[in-house]
Amino acid sequence: ASYLTVQNLRKAYPGSTTPAVADATLTLERGRMLTLLGPSGCGKTTLLRMLAGLTTPDSGQVLVGGRSMIGVPLHKRNMGMVFQSYALFPHLDVARNIAFGLEVRGIKDAACRKRVSDMMDLMHLGGLEHRRVADLSGGQRQRVALARALAIEPDILLLDEPLANLDVKLRGIMRDEIRSLQRRLGITSVFVTHDQEEALSIADVVAVMSDGHVRQIGTPVEIYDRP
Ligand code: ADP
Ligand code: ADP
Repeated sequence: ASYLTVQNLRKAYPGSTTPAVADATLTLERGRMLTLLGPSGCGKTTLLRMLAGLTTPDSGQVLVGGRSMIGVPLHKRNMGMVFQSYALFPHLDVARNIAFGLEVRGIKDAACRKRVSDMMDLMHLGGLEHRRVADLSGGQRQRVALARALAIEPDILLLDEPLANLDVKLRGIMRDEIRSLQRRLGITSVFVTHDQEEALSIADVVAVMSDGHVRQIGTPVEIYDRP
């Protein structure tokens, strides 16, 4: 059964002659990792933003667990987001950053502290709770971004080129860590990348995009004849 369903989703930015996303259709089962793969400018981020509720589609449908997300605002979608640039608050400490999404949802005091502490353990951030994010390494920042996204127990985890700002070695380590965490928690995830190797190594299902269209969707074996 499909948990995430995207039907004929379309977005044309004002003033543009061709749509950034045209007629995108895909399905994803619960607990699976989908990668959106394609070159820069093909519409991956626009599609992800429409899933998140950050960008309003012109037409089409997004369903999560059978419920339409169209018109549902960002904070009521329960999606966790991780961006290439982390989008953390650099002047706030690690704990406050992780707590942010919880506070927005009215979770506070002991429940909030417990959840933040669990997330710090999960992401191996122990001892860093009072460090400012501005003073952390790139890898540590990405762990904080993941901890913040996971703290709200999202229905879907959305990752937009989360490894792009890391050096090659760290990129491999974090990729494996995200993958094993995703499997262990069974969290339905959509991962945007332009890197074919990265997409194939992390995905259960790959959606190949070009020029705003989802051209192919299948397992790495189905699409590239490799595991
Ligand atoms: P990708 O993530 O694959 O690089 P994007 O979704 O960012 O692709 O962009 C798809 C197309 O839409 C590109 O042509 C890009 O220039 C354009 N685009 C992206 N965001 C905006 C925006 N906010 N306003 C206008 N055009 C945009
Ligand atoms: P909506 O929220 O109505 O879907 P858009 O999808 O057009 O609006 O815009 C999404 C985000 O992209 C907004 O934060 C907007 O400020 C930003 N944006 C709009 N136009 C551009 C552009 N030409 N280049 C970069 N960013 C843009």
